[in-house]
Amino acid sequence: MFRLDGKLALVTGGSRGIGRATALALARQGAAVVVNYASNQTAAHSVVEEIRAAGGTAESLMFDVSDSAQVDDAIGDVVKRQGKLDILVANAGIAIDGLLLRLKDDDLDRLMAVNLRGPLACARAAMKSMVRARQGRIVFISSVIGEIGNAGQAAYASSKAGLLGLCKTLAREYGSRGITVNAVAPGLIDTDMTSRLDEPARKTISGTIPLGHFGKPEDVAAAVVYLVSDEAAYVTGHTLRVNGGMYV
Ligand code: NAD
Repeated sequence: MFRLDGKLALVTGGSRGIGRATALALARQGAAVVVNYASNQTAAHSVVEEIRAAGGTAESLMFDVSDSAQVDDAIGDVVKRQGKLDILVANAGIAIDGLLLRLKDDDLDRLMAVNLRGPLACARAAMKSMVRARQGRIVFISSVIGEIGNAGQAAYASSKAGLLGLCKTLAREYGSRGITVNAVAPGLIDTDMTSRLDEPARKTISGTIPLGHFGKPEDVAAAVVYLVSDEAAYVTGHTLRVNGGMYV
């Protein structure tokens, strides 16, 4: 089940964390994977090498998701070279935290450009070939914070909630073309993004999670694999929570 042989997938922010685990999981299921990165070429290459060493097919691709011209050029080039793009996982994201009264316009603009406009631009660029092929899979990586909010994360929560609106809208716009669009909303996952939490904070947060601990990037990757598989052909506009029960 959940085989992806013959599929071509692009994972944004694929060099580490959830994106890395997703790229590796998609490749294990047989997909050829394009590992996008913004700056860390070495980390992206090591993901590509790991996939190739396991007998899979992968390449790395540099572009900044917040720059629509770069997104269009890079994804357009993939489609031109490979003749298609079957799967887009819009994973790249950043967190800039701060209480509303201290939130600066520059920070807000940067966060929205990466976390919301970036996925929208990637989806727009990927959708062109998906519409032509009358098939495709798009998954946005949102967050539990977009669903429940969090003091000190007004900008981040807005961007992640925005992705859920985008997901539902694209599911309605492109369902008739055989394209499914879904979101995964992770809870607290052990990655660089959450590594700045100290031990007392981790303990407090873990106490609010019914399963009692943070998740692993692989937990999120498995949800993505399901949503892009043939087995999920009738699932669209859905948000799949991978949050240990933090929000149910
Ligand atoms: P991470 O910081 O390890 O990874 C983020 C990735 O995005 C990095 O590879 C980074 O280089 C890339 N990236 C950032 N800006 C980019 C840009 N402009 N263009 C291209 N790539 C860019 O964090 P992670 O935890 O793996 O986060 C992955 C996604 O999951 C993010 O969207 C994040 O908001 C979301 N998420 C994470 C958690 C968590 O607890 N870790 C929870 C919910 C949602």
